[in-house]
Amino acid sequence: MRSAATAIVQAVDPELDDRLQKLRVDLPGNSPELIAKMRDSGISLDFHPMRNDGAIWGFLGNLLFPMLLLGALFFLFRRSSNIPGGPGQAMSFGKSRARFQMEAQTGITFEDVAGIDEAKEELQEIVTFLKQPERFTAVGARIPKGVLLVGPPGTGKTLLAKAIAGEAGVPFFSISGSEFVEMFVGVGASRVRDLFKKAKENAPCLIFIDEIDAVGRQRGAGIGGGNDEREQTLNQLLTEMDGFEGNTGIIIIAATNRPDVLDSALLRPGRFDRQVIVDAPDLKGRMSILDVHARNKKIAPQVSLEAIARRTPGFTGADLANLLNEAAILTARRRKEAITILEIDDAIDRVVAGMEGTPLVDSKSKRLIAYHEIGHAIVGTLLKDHDPVQKVTLVPRGQARGLTWFIPNEEQGLTTRAQLLARIAGAMGGRAAEEEIFGSDEVTTGAGGDLQQVTNMARQMVTRFGMSDLGPLSLESQEGEVFLGSGLMSRAEYSEEVAARIDAQVRTIIEHGHALARTTIRDNREVVDRLVDLLIEKETIDGQEFRQIVAEYTDVPEKEQVFSLL
Ligand code: ADP
Ligand code: MG
Ligand code: ZN
Repeated sequence: MRSAATAIVQAVDPELDDRLQKLRVDLPGNSPELIAKMRDSGISLDFHPMRNDGAIWGFLGNLLFPMLLLGALFFLFRRSSNIPGGPGQAMSFGKSRARFQMEAQTGITFEDVAGIDEAKEELQEIVTFLKQPERFTAVGARIPKGVLLVGPPGTGKTLLAKAIAGEAGVPFFSISGSEFVEMFVGVGASRVRDLFKKAKENAPCLIFIDEIDAVGRQRGAGIGGGNDEREQTLNQLLTEMDGFEGNTGIIIIAATNRPDVLDSALLRPGRFDRQVIVDAPDLKGRMSILDVHARNKKIAPQVSLEAIARRTPGFTGADLANLLNEAAILTARRRKEAITILEIDDAIDRVVAGMEGTPLVDSKSKRLIAYHEIGHAIVGTLLKDHDPVQKVTLVPRGQARGLTWFIPNEEQGLTTRAQLLARIAGAMGGRAAEEEIFGSDEVTTGAGGDLQQVTNMARQMVTRFGMSDLGPLSLESQEGEVFLGSGLMSRAEYSEEVAARIDAQVRTIIEHGHALARTTIRDNREVVDRLVDLLIEKETIDGQEFRQIVAEYTDVPEKEQVFSLL
């Protein structure tokens, strides 16, 4: 016991009829030398941790029965509540029921983090703060206490925090904001106290608070005066952060994807005054993340990580790790030696669209789905501003009974009005084909998702991007999920009349896309029919082949991002 401060000495004194005596002796602080000496001279030693130190056993005998009973009740209580954080927790009241995790060594280094080089660079400094604080304090610099990592889920925020601890070789304490917030007042605050107490004992170290927005929301927001418990927890956190000097060797890293809702007190100097953005990786970033996760996997030499990166815009680090893992599982299931591009391709589809289902047998409804998908694909192919088709398939996946995949062009970053209009027309292509071929009585519910997407896009064009006849106005604040209170208050920034005009504009945009899709399909009916037959026969048509066939009938506009995964 490193921290044992009291020793219970058992002594037999011949002068007192050899009666066993128990003595309590204070040890002079931490005394490894004394203990070593005692060991050397053959004194048998035993250590008990402080909590149930020997003295307590003396009078425990009488209490044992009631304690056991209590214990059992307690146990029943806990078992009977299935709700996490429900009544079962009532007994634990925060104290030392360690809800935070500690890792003495995370074993993760910056080598394991890829594709977010800017964030890594900024955090490199934190490692130095933890490793050599003297360097900064010697010249009178105040070492920052808190860093806020801001970014969507799965981009590697937890990983980064662990890597900092790993690089600095310090312990890693972690807790999630949602674990602070319990139904019992005072529990969160006492958890914060516990956490900081433990951290101070282990300094230098790193504290990681995940989902800090769960505790750190603006105080006083929300209807009915807000949440007392959360406010207390937040106040305790602020108090603790103010209570230690920057040079005690504790650095707090918090993660959130909603920095906008955080209480401004958290962001003041001396608290989380540094913000580091951890965004979804770009093409190059995805390549290097794939590189990291490919290290321990057997991948066939023909597989190009670049091609995978190109097919996965919007994927986060976690998605990519998951993708390679899915591919490895498929490879094992197919009893192959190494992961090939086929497994990668299947894994991407699975990660994006869900599990593969069994194809339909040829029927009227299969034919309708085929027309629907070919409708999307042909409109997408023939509109100059639409992303090119990657493949069309009738193999169901997740909720979808057929799918048309496009290759988005992410390099440009911004999206033009022409592109949005093309996307709207492309998304209307499915419904348009159903109408053209089967007539408006036969259209199906299958286009529900498409219509929702189309409506969203059109509405945003009008209200956010100023791309309609209403002019360059922003009529809606950034989307931002409505959280009680502030959302309700800020509604209705425009009059009824403007609302009606917005609706009219949205309608115009959609109708234009719909009409464009219908004429495209009508004018190319011959190739549409041929493609549908082919799709029913083959289940899947690759983008390249699709374009070749269409090119036999009409001009296909050139597009930049055409490439093949194979
Ligand atoms: P977050 O905390 O931002 O939600 P995590 O750090 O928990 O994301 O990421 C989950 C997993 O995804 C990591 O354990 C890692 O395997 C993988 N991952 C995420 N981002 C990266 C990255 N930038 N480089 C390498 N792997 C990553
Ligand atoms: Mg995380
Ligand atoms: Zn559709």
